[in-house]
Amino acid sequence: MVSRELIARHCICCGSDQLRRSPAVLMPFIAHRVFGHEPVEITEEWGLRDLLPGMAYTLCSSLQCQHCGVLFLDYRFTEEQMAALYHGYRDEIYTRQRNHYEPGYAAIADHYQQREAYIRDVESWLAPHLPPRPVVLDWGGGSGLNTPFLYQGGKLHVHDISAVELMPGVERVNTSQLAAQRYDLIVCSQVLEHVPFPLDLIKQILPALHEQTLVYLEVPHEALMRENPGSLELAGLKRHWHEHVNFFTQQALHSLLDSTGLVLVDSHLLTIDLGWRQSQVMGVLARYP
Ligand SMILES: [Zn+2]
Repeated sequence: MVSRELIARHCICCGSDQLRRSPAVLMPFIAHRVFGHEPVEITEEWGLRDLLPGMAYTLCSSLQCQHCGVLFLDYRFTEEQMAALYHGYRDEIYTRQRNHYEPGYAAIADHYQQREAYIRDVESWLAPHLPPRPVVLDWGGGSGLNTPFLYQGGKLHVHDISAVELMPGVERVNTSQLAAQRYDLIVCSQVLEHVPFPLDLIKQILPALHEQTLVYLEVPHEALMRENPGSLELAGLKRHWHEHVNFFTQQALHSLLDSTGLVLVDSHLLTIDLGWRQSQVMGVLARYP
């Protein structure tokens, strides 16, 4: 049983209470947006007898499930906090505020305005499972810029909380319209690592599924997880948290599928060479039994 705990005491994927814990800091940009916290220097003038002077940042914990291996931030943000964090995601004000805490961010922000080249490889991997010109719903797909099968002849819907302008030809759908459409594919890419309750999010998608619909879930395979395969000792190595609040393992993704009654059809790991850095994504394809 996975419940909505605002400071997690159970695994967010499998519900286990076997968690390893280690202290960490929430990066100042996130702490500012979510809690209104700003880093502060504790000085002698504070007159606090039992505290040492020095910089204070928002403290949190890294938790790792000893059953499925998922590594995650203990804070689980409320809907209101999530809205504050992602308001105007990557727009001018967001970028300026983030650049204040993370000098250099603005310089790379332009990168996010272009379609990711690796989507082609995702499409090649998905295509054999799908009819030609698939009808696609992208859950959390923003403008549709990175939606697989964009401009390949099939209808393309996006469900997203942000009000960003959509790519030409992409349609927005709300939850009440979902069941009316027969989707060949529902994509939820690069979303689950941001959300406080991944299981709840997948459950929200379920009403849009028909018997033949495939669900593609994709998350980053974070460097720390890649470099320590199978390790359950990662909490102490994760000293800071940013917008990715969940670092998944394959087993954790499988636990999520199990908990929602979906079965695994196929899975892949895809290495992406961005030139300035190498990364990897982990994807699972699932359906109703
Ligand atoms: Zn777990």
